Amino acid sequence: ETLAELDARVSVCRACDRLVEWREDVALSKRKSFADQPYWGRPIAGWGSSSPRVLIAGLAPAAHGGNRTGRVFTGDRSGDWLFASLHRVGLASQPTSTHAGDGLHLLGARMMAAVRCAPPANKPTPEERDTCSPWFHAELRLVLPSTRVIVCLGKFGFDVLLNALAAVGGEIPRPRPKFGHAVEYVVPGPYGEVVVLGCFHPSQQNTFTGKLTEPMLDAVFTRARTLAGL
Ligand code: SF4
Repeated sequence: ETLAELDARVSVCRACDRLVEWREDVALSKRKSFADQPYWGRPIAGWGSSSPRVLIAGLAPAAHGGNRTGRVFTGDRSGDWLFASLHRVGLASQPTSTHAGDGLHLLGARMMAAVRCAPPANKPTPEERDTCSPWFHAELRLVLPSTRVIVCLGKFGFDVLLNALAAVGGEIPRPRPKFGHAVEYVVPGPYGEVVVLGCFHPSQQNTFTGKLTEPMLDAVFTRARTLAGL
């Protein structure tokens, strides 16, 4: 199966009643400031390079971010922080991510969410996470052979990524890796060897409080780029 075939299959998934209702309700009601824009309102496959060196993994798309633009981790405040940083370090073609036709490209990188539909309050249930995991694992299998580094956004993203790597044959270090900003773990597997990097989520909760600063974010992506040989 190719990435395009996988994308086509996931784009019509309706396996989680609660998330289907939420993603579509949000797309119909919209946020006032985006009233003139179409909303995607469907599952969101990974996007970016089809043979990435760097993967950026998180938990789920945001209601008015990815669920609007169709590209995960774009179009909201977190995306503003993320793309400003990715552009500074040379992993994105431009520093902003406003809407689907804005010309943004990832350079040697790909973004993927473990859960493909926007959840209420940004929190999928464990059952929803598990229901969506076959999609995540299938995409991982297709892109891991070229991947050297995986940057995980937030603790939930980190934990779900480690579980996914284990599911596709990765040898998770023992004791189990602990999340933190800029932590690094090597995870070998049938796909070769990847370095998993932890990164605080660029949510407003972290960026407003100074828990995550621009230099901290840039440092993780610079490290990722170096490890990936980009
Ligand atoms: Fe399907 Fe995943 Fe969306 Fe659930 S979250 S409906 S499994 S794509």
